[in-house]
Amino acid sequence: MRLIIATNRAPYNIKKPKDDILLEKSPGGLVAALDPVMKKNQGIWVCGGEKLLEDYGLTLPYPVKQVKLTPKETKYYYEGFCNTQIWPLFHYFTSRYKMDIKDWGFYKQVNQKFANQIMEIIEPEDRIWVHDYQLMMVPKLLREKGATQKIGFFLHIPFPNLEIYRIFPKRYEILESLLNCDLIAFHTESYKRHFLECVDHFMGHDVERVDNKIIYKGRTISVEALPISIDYKEIEKIAASEPTELKLAELKKMYAGQLVGLGVDRLDYTKGVNEKLEGLEYFLDNNPEYIKRLSYIQIAVPTRSNVHDYMKIKRQTDEMVGRINGKFSKDGWSPIQYLYSNLKFEDLVGYYRLADFIIVSALRDGLNLVAKEYVAARIHNGGQLILSEFTGAAEEMPYRALINPFDVTSISEAIAKVLKTDETIRYKSMSETRAYVKENDIYKWLDKFLEHLG
Ligand code: UDP
Repeated sequence: MRLIIATNRAPYNIKKPKDDILLEKSPGGLVAALDPVMKKNQGIWVCGGEKLLEDYGLTLPYPVKQVKLTPKETKYYYEGFCNTQIWPLFHYFTSRYKMDIKDWGFYKQVNQKFANQIMEIIEPEDRIWVHDYQLMMVPKLLREKGATQKIGFFLHIPFPNLEIYRIFPKRYEILESLLNCDLIAFHTESYKRHFLECVDHFMGHDVERVDNKIIYKGRTISVEALPISIDYKEIEKIAASEPTELKLAELKKMYAGQLVGLGVDRLDYTKGVNEKLEGLEYFLDNNPEYIKRLSYIQIAVPTRSNVHDYMKIKRQTDEMVGRINGKFSKDGWSPIQYLYSNLKFEDLVGYYRLADFIIVSALRDGLNLVAKEYVAARIHNGGQLILSEFTGAAEEMPYRALINPFDVTSISEAIAKVLKTDETIRYKSMSETRAYVKENDIYKWLDKFLEHLG
């Protein structure tokens, strides 16, 4: 059986340092999760892009078919409908939601291009797996073009509750399209429940419900909660590899004698980076004994820099880091090290191994893979995970210190608590969390999805 995966983003970007042309793995959880899936399975990855990898003569570890997008499509479909309409709304940022009437036409147009591309390559025994909020019209467009193969859909972001979803002008069109799938899956039971409530509310006249199954136009659709995961063994291997050891040694020298906290986020307003920095400021204000003793490293990965709200958040974060460092700097020491870049994975894992704790402070996040990667990278145990209760991972994962990132005192108290936790307890809880993530890795997620798809 071949798997035809469709995602908006190409798994690799073209990077041009000087005269060389290199491939760089795209940032973000979706690509990190699907790359090993494609390496293991026979199939084709259908993705979008303005620049096509094949035009540069670049080859990938698996077959890729790219849908070429025009700059205008990128503007209205991606920056507009996807990132100024769906993204803020599905993450409960209703005040950032902005409708441009032109967006929807381009969204449908691009989704049609994806459906056409899939129809060109599809064979009778294939399974189609459509990913995420950028491609939610694809299932319907595939059926309109005659596809009879099994279609699965996975949403990588939260599915909001009924009162939020109600705001979405295309609420009927999107639900109706998704009901052309055989399987629709989300990260958590909550997102699944929200989806079923919305289907009952908006499509109630046309559907029948039997538990988690929806019967629509004579077809039965399964709805499941399947939290995505990581390639645990691979990350463990990378964590023990020579490049990571070298990076770790370099970092240990730089941070000798310091306690180290870490944050790894795309610089997206949903990630709560500024809230986290305010929490850290509150902590240092109230626990001055940690001045010169605690270093916090914030890795901020550039993202969607053409969208207005993202330019603004970058400016705000830069200013906040400057202000807090200005406030607490002493004798050449400053509390925050700020790296605005997309790191090599080996280097990132070096930071995971170094950090005594990590803070995931997302104000809303579908799942959050950084939390699982940190756990997998802690090959010598130790290390503590401070996790926002508004992430899918918080609903799924065992032992973690939960925070409400809207509350500076909650962040500050969690930092104080993890710094005081007894070593035996730290080791025990990390080893329990590691066992959980090891057992529930990306391959298990894949097997479960394909089993449900049938
Ligand atoms: N990541 C990356 N480059 C970096 C830092 C992080 O590619 O410099 C990756 C990280 O390894 C993780 C992903 O970005 O796999 C972030 O996934 P997550 O689910 O936490 O959030 P998303 O960015 O998908 O919203």
